[in-house]
Amino acid sequence: MRFSSPLFFGCPAEFLGGSALLKVFCPNEMTGSLLDIDLNALAAQGIKALIIDLDNTLMGWDAEQITSQIKKWVQMVKAKGFRICIASNGLSNRVKRIAAELDVPAVPKAIKPRKRPFRLALRLLNTRSDQTAVIGDQVFTDILGGNRMNCYTILINPISRKELRSTRFMRRVERRILRRLHKKGLVQDKSYRQRLGIYKRD
Ligand SMILES: [Mg+2]
Repeated sequence: MRFSSPLFFGCPAEFLGGSALLKVFCPNEMTGSLLDIDLNALAAQGIKALIIDLDNTLMGWDAEQITSQIKKWVQMVKAKGFRICIASNGLSNRVKRIAAELDVPAVPKAIKPRKRPFRLALRLLNTRSDQTAVIGDQVFTDILGGNRMNCYTILINPISRKELRSTRFMRRVERRILRRLHKKGLVQDKSYRQRLGIYKRD
């Protein structure tokens, strides 16, 4: 089965309910933001590098600049010895500009959840998938892609409520998948409840 096929993405959540299939959407961890990630715990389990999504993970979807808080976080992560690569479905120029500002490599126009951009990122990081965490705000791109590569996956809440229309649509399916994962006890109750807030629309 090709996970990247549009047909797959059009599937109602009922068809995605099988346990084995469901697990491919399950993050290893769910936290509020990048700042909440326990880096010491990651290092203790042998994680050496982070593949990080750009929009709504490192910066707001409509933002032009990275906040100083995130810049400091990136410096701190690097100082702890982690390597970082940005993997974004966004356009080259913008992704490259931000990556240059943070002094990290990047894979733009990634078309996550395809495997290719993750393979490229692993090559740039010079790490194996079991030494690498994938961090992002979307189940169907970041988490699905990271899980397919057997990386450690961390789902964070999006920075901004502004998103592409297609992303807003996918959030509805995402919510149903997470509800099923929660029912099966595959995601932590506290993290799940914290995440539910992002699906409430004004
Ligand atoms: Mg994102």
